[in-house]
Amino acid sequence: MTKLLPAKHLLLIAAVCLFLAIVLIAFPQKETTNNAISLEARFEQIDQSELTFADIEELTPTAQAIPKDFKPDTFSSIYDLPTPEALRKKNSPPSYVDTSVEIKTGDSLSKVLTNEGISTQDIYKVSQADKKQKSLVRMLPGQTITFTKNENTGELTKLTLVVDKLNSVTFERDDKGFNRTEKHRTPDVIQTYKEAEINSSLFVDGLKSGIEQSLLIELASIFGWDIDFALDIRKGDRLSLLYEEKFLDGEKIGNGNIIAAQFINNGRTFQAIRYKTQRGSHYYTPDGLAMRKTFIRTPVDFTRISSKFNPNRLHPIFKTSRPHRGVDYAAASGTPVKAAGDGKVSFAGKQTGYGNVVIIDHGRGYQTLYAHLKSFSRGIRRGATVSQGKIIAYVGQTGWATGPHLHYEFRINGTHKNPVTVKLPNDDPMPKKDLKTYLPYAKQIMATLSNSHSPAFARKLASLNN
Ligand SMILES: [Zn+2]
Repeated sequence: MTKLLPAKHLLLIAAVCLFLAIVLIAFPQKETTNNAISLEARFEQIDQSELTFADIEELTPTAQAIPKDFKPDTFSSIYDLPTPEALRKKNSPPSYVDTSVEIKTGDSLSKVLTNEGISTQDIYKVSQADKKQKSLVRMLPGQTITFTKNENTGELTKLTLVVDKLNSVTFERDDKGFNRTEKHRTPDVIQTYKEAEINSSLFVDGLKSGIEQSLLIELASIFGWDIDFALDIRKGDRLSLLYEEKFLDGEKIGNGNIIAAQFINNGRTFQAIRYKTQRGSHYYTPDGLAMRKTFIRTPVDFTRISSKFNPNRLHPIFKTSRPHRGVDYAAASGTPVKAAGDGKVSFAGKQTGYGNVVIIDHGRGYQTLYAHLKSFSRGIRRGATVSQGKIIAYVGQTGWATGPHLHYEFRINGTHKNPVTVKLPNDDPMPKKDLKTYLPYAKQIMATLSNSHSPAFARKLASLNN
């Protein structure tokens, strides 16, 4: 190379080198100090979510190579630098420290780890390893992060997110960054039988009999289609259930599903068995009929029925004989009104008398009507599809109404039925091909229940079956 260069060029290069050396010797302190300050400032401004790997690499070596307290007095001091603290630590044997942090509301991975003194680079590398699965992004308050840090270098070596008692995700440091692994444990599941006699309410007597509240809530939703737990419960009603309990290392960690349940209410017996078909897991009668009905009985949480279904009623405003073709549920203005079943809105707007009204067409000749509404939910207009339980509007007193209430009508093929007593159709029955395997299973489950009944329960059941 040098041979190719004319001598005057070589002289010029030598001159430039000499000039640079003089500059470096004359102003070393100023240069390094500026450098350190500007690096710090840059670190503070970093939004790690926007960092690229190249950014980090560009920043990393410089940031570590120049210690903050590096203040050489002369150029020569660079050769006998006192070993910086960090460098000395790096060379001593690693000492690992484990830390466990519970996630609180508003926490993020970077917030938690930054507080614990983990570097931006390490936080970035861990989140890169979790880029696809996003477990760390989705972490929730109450979950725990445990991590191991090398105290000498400040390096993060391992991090585990404990999702729950059964699931965790671990990140372990390797040459490239972090290696992500998931751990899933399977609990032992046992079947447990419980029963209760009801003397005051499902919840009071259920809890007394050692049935947990979560199971009672589920029972209420399984049988809620047939039994009104506020009005229908009678002293001496009985219930029994078979459910799953989950154990991990001999310790109970929770309940699984209710496998089957029976409810003897006011002389009627209801039985439900959980079964999984292609449509998901649902409860069926031992014959394979869905427990769930196509309609919910009352589309609003009401305080009282202010006017019953009455084909020969004297109208409160007109004082003439005018049939009341629906039922009036008194409720505070603004109470949500739910769609009684799946369907399509066929009318949403004002009508004389009804005020703001919604009519839903449910197919197969079924129609429901909701009147005197204060307002409609967003998107509720003619042609909108609604599913059972969806909030469609709010209680008001528009039209001819003397106070806030929901006027609710239930029509089958154009004929008005009493919404309180009309026999509601069951949801679609189980598909025929599932029924073949379901029926023998149901028989076996019912036998398991029967074998578990207390003598008192068995007597009560036998007295009803006769
Ligand atoms: Zn009415």
